[in-house]
Amino acid sequence: MVLSSLPDERAREDGRSLATDLGHSGGLRIYPESIATTGEAIFFLGKKGTLPFLGIAFKGRNSTAANFIGDERSIALEGQEFTLKLCLADHANAAVLRAALPYTAPQVLGLRKSAGCGDRLGLATPGHVRAIRQFSGIAPIFAQQSVRENARTGRTPQQVLDDATWGVFQEGWRQPWGADADHLKTPADIDAFVAAGYTFYTIDPGDSVDNDAHTAPPAAVTAKVQSLPWETLEDTAQDMERRYLGRTFNLGEFTLAFDRESLWRAACKYGRAIAHTVQMYRHLASRMGDRPFELEVSVDETETPTSPQEHFFVASELRRLGVQWVSLAPRYVGRFEKGVDYIGDLAQFEAEFIKHLAIARHLGPYKLSLHSGSDKFSIYPIIARHAGDLVHLKTAGTSYLEALRAIASIDPSLFREILALARECYEEDRATYHVSADPARVPPPERLADSELAGVLDLFDGRQLLHVTFGSVLERFGPELKEALTWHEEEYYTALETHFCKHLKAFA
Ligand code: ZN
Repeated sequence: MVLSSLPDERAREDGRSLATDLGHSGGLRIYPESIATTGEAIFFLGKKGTLPFLGIAFKGRNSTAANFIGDERSIALEGQEFTLKLCLADHANAAVLRAALPYTAPQVLGLRKSAGCGDRLGLATPGHVRAIRQFSGIAPIFAQQSVRENARTGRTPQQVLDDATWGVFQEGWRQPWGADADHLKTPADIDAFVAAGYTFYTIDPGDSVDNDAHTAPPAAVTAKVQSLPWETLEDTAQDMERRYLGRTFNLGEFTLAFDRESLWRAACKYGRAIAHTVQMYRHLASRMGDRPFELEVSVDETETPTSPQEHFFVASELRRLGVQWVSLAPRYVGRFEKGVDYIGDLAQFEAEFIKHLAIARHLGPYKLSLHSGSDKFSIYPIIARHAGDLVHLKTAGTSYLEALRAIASIDPSLFREILALARECYEEDRATYHVSADPARVPPPERLADSELAGVLDLFDGRQLLHVTFGSVLERFGPELKEALTWHEEEYYTALETHFCKHLKAFA
């Protein structure tokens, strides 16, 4: 306990000012929330200009500090000798930090009500922390990127996780947080996330969902069902019928029954997706070994809504095959477009949501996950009223839009260039995204005064246009954009905090 030899009043009551003094001696501007005192050392994050450094102060020799890579110097403070080690906020040091201060590592969150905060730029976690701190009942997922988003931003699963670790450390978030490997489509997608230390895995078997099942003629449905991978499903069509036909399933809120046609159409639509999910799950479980993890199953990005009956079928089958999951994202009725409010009939959504929830309670319990969950303000009260804790809200691109909102005031000319490029690239970049914006309805940048630029982010078409063109924008303006946000980080954090509080308060 080396620090116990420090003057008591400094070590215990005033570790913060000691760290600040030490940081100043090292030429750093300190993030006060980052300061963490273990029995043997003081850890903190500081910046020189825009370059972040981890600082570790200790007396004598320190075996934990020895694991970090950095430069040591001796510092005298009030007649005492300290060693101050300054370390780059890079991957190697993030890995050591997660071991030294376990709250900087992701954990499984179980059935706690939760919110996923995707961060395309790797700069948003401090803003997310400031918002989530105000709502004690909601557990956050701070690292969350899909394979598709990483491909477009050029980031790796490891970089995404490391950025979240540094953000958590900077703001001193000491409660559990998760790391979501989002929209995994192939076994190969899984491995890099496992290696990086993710805790939450979202399997997306959407490519195996057969949307023609609703309308295909009966003979075609029969042929498709007969050709399902029955071996992987550990099943036969006859056994499947025995489990579902001639029975009534009581789900509390309502009862559910299958006739032969509805069962075969459900099997036709989701059979391959179930088989794919099982294979993905087993691959993941074998890669994870003894490490705890949690699973989400998402079919949100498919063309046709998941009926309660289909949801029941999918969940029952996954359960029979030994898959365990904490959340499931059906494709709900209505439209969940990126960056804008729900489009659809609220009464119909509520009626269906209640049924999905009854199934989730009956076959789990597990959470219902809401993908493309940002800005769906009209349905949050419905979800919050019925779901209690059984909800996971997933947002991905909305933090990037808030970055652009900050840029509109920090650097209007950069915002204009981004908007012009987004208008050019939208038609190509919108593929694979659920959006319906018309770029002709987004004003060209040259017609907007500086004070009107941020207003583009309040327009339906403007939000979607900017939301889906991030890959093109980051390829061209990524370094400038990040540098501007880094110099003006408080403006970005404030925009994020305001925006996320609007979302989270509905669920608090
Ligand atoms: Zn999704």
